[in-house]
Amino acid sequence: MNIESKILGGLERLSEALKALLWEKAKTFGISPIQIQILLFVSNHKREICNVSYLAKEFNVTKATISDAVRILLKKEYLEKDHSPTDNRRYNLFITSSGKELVGQLEGYADVFNKELSSFTDQELANIFDTLSKLIFQLNQKGVIQVQRTCYNCKYYSGDKKEDHYCNLLKSKLSGKEIQIDCDEFEE
Ligand code: SF4
Repeated sequence: MNIESKILGGLERLSEALKALLWEKAKTFGISPIQIQILLFVSNHKREICNVSYLAKEFNVTKATISDAVRILLKKEYLEKDHSPTDNRRYNLFITSSGKELVGQLEGYADVFNKELSSFTDQELANIFDTLSKLIFQLNQKGVIQVQRTCYNCKYYSGDKKEDHYCNLLKSKLSGKEIQIDCDEFEE
């Protein structure tokens, strides 16, 4: 087996383990994993991108799947709609106070991952992050990952995507570990 296949196998295992941890939490609170993912996303991102179309791309699922999950989250009063002033059919989502409370209990679902990662050296973590951020960017370029808010795809980025990185919004050089993979200020 070549190294690429072994890495792929490792990524699959990590992804399965993360999903299993998410399922565990989901069961505790009586909501589905996709509902948890939506809640965490809405609580951590600006309102302008929290809509059904964007969420469908973010999680690589259909709009119908997102709409169903959102309907339940609205019914349970974890989310609310913010309607467009010009078109009542369009809306963005925002989190309610009970949604925030739930998110507070959900957020630690991957703590065991954080704990194990913190046993690596800074250099090892920087290397892992560097490879992952470039892989995400390359897969986005091939259309495999639909949404990504990384520096490498941002209009404010200039650099060689290797060692020399600069953010024209922050007007600052970025080190490898300062490269963002989910930046609020990202613009395509
Ligand atoms: S705005 Fe954010 S994503 Fe864009 S280059 Fe700056 S830090 Fe990176």
